[in-house]
Amino acid sequence: MKPLDAVIGIDLGGTFTKIGVVDKQGNMLMLDRFPSRADEPFEYFLEELQQSFQNIKKTLGEHINLLAIGVGAPDTNCFTGEMENPPNFKWGEVVPLATGIQSVTKLPVFVNNDANVAALGEMIYGGGKGMKHLVVVTLGTGVGSGFIVDGKLHIGHHGMAGELGHVNAVRNGRLCRCGLYGCLEQYSSVTGVRKSVRILAQETDMPSRFRGLSLEEINGEEVANAALAGDEIAKEAFEIAGKLLGEKLADVVAFFNPEAIFLTGGLVKAGKLILEPTQKHMEQNLLHIYHDRTKILISDLVDQEGAVLGAAALGWENIDN
Ligand SMILES: [Zn+2]
Repeated sequence: MKPLDAVIGIDLGGTFTKIGVVDKQGNMLMLDRFPSRADEPFEYFLEELQQSFQNIKKTLGEHINLLAIGVGAPDTNCFTGEMENPPNFKWGEVVPLATGIQSVTKLPVFVNNDANVAALGEMIYGGGKGMKHLVVVTLGTGVGSGFIVDGKLHIGHHGMAGELGHVNAVRNGRLCRCGLYGCLEQYSSVTGVRKSVRILAQETDMPSRFRGLSLEEINGEEVANAALAGDEIAKEAFEIAGKLLGEKLADVVAFFNPEAIFLTGGLVKAGKLILEPTQKHMEQNLLHIYHDRTKILISDLVDQEGAVLGAAALGWENIDN
């Protein structure tokens, strides 16, 4: 029997790396994971990867013909294949991600920013199937975004297009880890919601169970549960997140006129708490010609291995081209 063609998708995260073998139809044939060892030298990551890769080859054997590897990773430049100044990895200022993975696996390696990879995955395997214009916004520890324009990932002149997390949402607002003030991710990420709770508890007398807690003690999931149970401050923190996100998505609609905007990441687990204010404030800020025409949807892949599938999609796309 002829071996089945497949690619490997790698989702490189700050704590764990997930690695999956994916066929052309998006079926996950095997999934493995290993610690990313972000606080140790990059070579340790490559050792873990090598072990996992050997394990995959041993398990799937001659049934599979591996063609390429797609990688979604933070702070990655798709032109150079390098991670640039990754704040959550102690791997140096410039990390040769693509060449490192290639040296271990002897396969062609294609890397891209994790949010861009999520956008590809949504278009090819998720709710964006058949769409040619869509945006994916990741609402996790930070905020990321990937733009599909005319069926293609929009990467921009320097390979850095789509940093929605660091557009200005509040003039002279909260200091961001990037050094700017008032970035969207300071309000509309899991971290942003936690910060809002902390600030509202300090500056208002709204009733809340989070009063007196430090930022570290405020857990994103607990804030969502408290909001659903009626906690005033928790509700207001989601309202702020959704309002600012909705306003910025109205700008996105004016620039790109997408068919749909997909939300994914940890904050999305809060469901309507984030979805409703985002939709409301986006519509309120749209020019009339756009009203009720761009859908805001929760990603189809949010509970699946969306990041691994997206990385695999990147591999397939590069082979096909
Ligand atoms: Zn920023």
